[in-house]
Amino acid sequence: MLNYDVVVVGCGPAGSAAALRAAKAGKKVLAIERGPEPGSKNVSGAMIRKDYVSSVFGDGLPFEREVQRIKLSLYNGDSPVDIEFSPENLVTTGRLKFDKWLSSVAENAGAMVISKTTGLELKWENGTAKSLVTDRGEVTADAFVLAEGVNSLLSMKSGIKKDFTPDTAVQAVKEVYAVKKEDINSMFNLPDESKGLAWRFVMTDPLIAGFLYTYKDSVAVGIGSPIKELVSRKMRPEKVLDDFLDKTGLAKKFEGYSLREYSAKVIPEGGFPSMNPGKGNVYLCGDALGLVDPLTFDGISPAIASGTLAGDAAASGLSQDIYYYNLVKDPEISKIVKERPLEGRMLGTDAASGYINMLSSALNSWASGDLLGIGKIISSNFRNVMPDLIEFMTKMR
Ligand SMILES: Cc1cc2nc3c(=O)[nH]c(=O)nc-3n(C[C@H](O)[C@H](O)[C@H](O)COP(=O)(O)OP(=O)(O)OC[C@H]3O[C@@H](n4cnc5c(N)ncnc54)[C@H](O)[C@@H]3O)c2cc1C
Repeated sequence: MLNYDVVVVGCGPAGSAAALRAAKAGKKVLAIERGPEPGSKNVSGAMIRKDYVSSVFGDGLPFEREVQRIKLSLYNGDSPVDIEFSPENLVTTGRLKFDKWLSSVAENAGAMVISKTTGLELKWENGTAKSLVTDRGEVTADAFVLAEGVNSLLSMKSGIKKDFTPDTAVQAVKEVYAVKKEDINSMFNLPDESKGLAWRFVMTDPLIAGFLYTYKDSVAVGIGSPIKELVSRKMRPEKVLDDFLDKTGLAKKFEGYSLREYSAKVIPEGGFPSMNPGKGNVYLCGDALGLVDPLTFDGISPAIASGTLAGDAAASGLSQDIYYYNLVKDPEISKIVKERPLEGRMLGTDAASGYINMLSSALNSWASGDLLGIGKIISSNFRNVMPDLIEFMTKMR
């Protein structure tokens, strides 16, 4: 049986960060990926913070477009209230290229990366994991990192994590359209193919958080909606996405362009720190720990942050208490954790309608020059919704 110091399961952002750190610490590291190559299970793109990713993985990040504008459209009814910001440091990237690059950096640091290999079961002795059974044989190690994403079967089988329940999860559906570079530029008013748009939407009937990202020659568009909302309204996610595309006028924009990809994923609303981040010599990180924001879909930075800490913990055999403490005090992770109560409130349909109603009334008063009206709206809603709204708008940046 082959023996390693650290075995990492999953080569997404969390797994590659863990493999990189453990390899940099001089450990003999094996990272396995069930897909044909890292990123192949995450083929579409994402919006990421370039400076943060580079601070861990170094230069050379493959990206598609620099995000020049973030547009936020808040719908309560048929017409939106739109707000635009100019962000710094945000880029869109294709997950296949991005995940492959992350794992190649880990490989260059000395980790052995093997694809087409699925971790099936950890074998335990007296609370310590001794080996990992894969579909291509068994390996032993001193420590294991489970970076298996949201469908964390090994973490659940090992009794570290419970399956999520539908009333605390968001169903996400995403489509990617192949669109010519020049057409993307004119569709979204972009100067050239180096600049991109990220568009976020919040709708209340049904409650939806939507997104659109522009890549070089494709556009990703998708929605997330609380499963309890879909169940109570007896709505199928693909129908919700179709209605969303119609309502926003995007269906018309994409008419005649081919659909390159369709995917669906569940995002749990909860996770760490209300669950243990591991057990004995096994450390969980990334989506396996529930470190993804169900409103803004921000998950790659916390995956990298937690993967880095998991790699350090596995390399030096840290206790679970210290690993827990390190996770809690990491800024990327504490941001997600701190935002959970706000998300809980925003994901309640009544609250979301209240926020958007207030904002559209205030903007209408503003447009019609009724400054007293704005004053009244803001003062009467201040206690209830203003603090949450301001917090929400700030994090959308
Ligand atoms: C619709 C949608 C849009 C999103 N957009 C963004 C965005 O724009 N920006 C952003 O920051 N985040 C975004 N996210 C969140 C982001 O995708 C995740 O938070 C991030 O990918 C988590 O990284 P990870 O490494 O923990 O898991 P993953 O990226 O899911 O990687 C896990 C890897 O483990 C492999 N694996 C699983 N089980 C096994 C096993 N048993 N054996 C071997 N390999 C295994 C998988 O094949 C996969 O490659 C989005 C999520 C969704 C659903």
